Amino acid sequence: MTEKYHIVTYGCQMNVHESEKIAGVLRRMGYEETQNKEDADVIVFNTCCIRENAENHAFGNIGALKKLKKQKPSLLIVVGGCMTQEKGKTEVLSKKFPFIDIMFGTLNLEELETLIRQKREQKKRVVKIRETEGEIVETLEPYRTSYPNAWVNITYGCNNFCSYCIVPYVRGRERSRKPENIIAECKKLVAEGYKEITLLGQNVNSYGADGSTGMNFAELLDAVASIEGNFRLRFMTSHPKDFNEEVVKVMQKHRKIMRLVHLPVQSGSNAVLQAMNRRYTREKYLSEIKMLRSYFPEAEVTTDIIVGFPNETEEDYLQTESLVKEVDFASAFTFVYSKRTGTKAATMEGQIPEDVQKDRIMRLVELVNSLTRKKSEKYLGKTVEILCEDYDEKRGLYLGRDEFGRMGYFKSEKNLIGEFVVLKITEANGISLYGEIAENLESDKAGE
Ligand code: SF4
Repeated sequence: MTEKYHIVTYGCQMNVHESEKIAGVLRRMGYEETQNKEDADVIVFNTCCIRENAENHAFGNIGALKKLKKQKPSLLIVVGGCMTQEKGKTEVLSKKFPFIDIMFGTLNLEELETLIRQKREQKKRVVKIRETEGEIVETLEPYRTSYPNAWVNITYGCNNFCSYCIVPYVRGRERSRKPENIIAECKKLVAEGYKEITLLGQNVNSYGADGSTGMNFAELLDAVASIEGNFRLRFMTSHPKDFNEEVVKVMQKHRKIMRLVHLPVQSGSNAVLQAMNRRYTREKYLSEIKMLRSYFPEAEVTTDIIVGFPNETEEDYLQTESLVKEVDFASAFTFVYSKRTGTKAATMEGQIPEDVQKDRIMRLVELVNSLTRKKSEKYLGKTVEILCEDYDEKRGLYLGRDEFGRMGYFKSEKNLIGEFVVLKITEANGISLYGEIAENLESDKAGE
């Protein structure tokens, strides 16, 4: 009987894609996927340590496997990802959960197969965490589960050391993949029928900044967008200190590139931005939005915002509110500052009391939601082209996103996943749109 794997993923898109690589390794070893932990022969936790919540969540889920492991001692429990890469974390995990069989880090994912084989031959737990980043490994073929969307790493790691962020400590310094490998991967995806490619990096704009690739991000984007075929292209995450007009000019050259930019602002206050070590100002951020919209008035921007950062005053917070109103984001991922041991911000004086943080996040969420609602309402009666991505069984509706990232739901007798569909919007509910298929209609996109 074929052995089965089950992967539990926490955190960001980077981790989701890395889980696809873990799945690729396991399938090559002959395992098959199961959605059910009880049926699995190997369970992999691909952890995240960006926020305490994600860590606690993983701790809870790993702990819950104690009983299953007792009933089925042959079950392999594997923990990888950002958490194991954190200094001292494997010791904590070993003590807390002695039934973990294997631990590996973000910097040695390619060793997973060897570690599993090693564990099969010995009783002892296998722990292998690489301390420093090595050469980029190009042989990890992902098992993609997100058709028609595909993620393609262009960089790994980060050099920015924002004062609240643990990523550079657990994912190493920034390394850029060779352009020929990225382009070959994208060509293959297009040939396989993928319809949306996202170029992925902690800071895509600094691609090739170390001079190792002979191409900067704008040139890479141009090369990928020049691949023939019917697909959309986007990129994330952009860093406001590096986002520039050269990239926007490439967007203008290619209609394939979505008019949607994820540009995390984090705060609207210069004092907080400086304390965060973000290396741009509110004014620079706003000037980039202005520049982007001078090319594409309809361009949408999504963002990440942290409230309650150490020493953030009410005035600082109000600066964030005013920036949110000025930019009119399509959506914003809003977070309460979470202290991460090992980062500079964790040692800062002036940590903000929880009740103040809560009050600010509630006000911000309300503001963001009201702006998003207003934006959705503008779609009513318009037609938009969406890429059908999935079927929502609960609602009995297909769904997909337009090039501005707005989700649209619709009814169809036919499976349209992977097809571009023109919808006439009949209802707007929060960030979601509902519509009817409007075939043979020219797309009259909202905001134009
Ligand atoms: S750019 Fe800043 S927030 Fe983003 S991964 Fe790097 S250090 Fe973290």
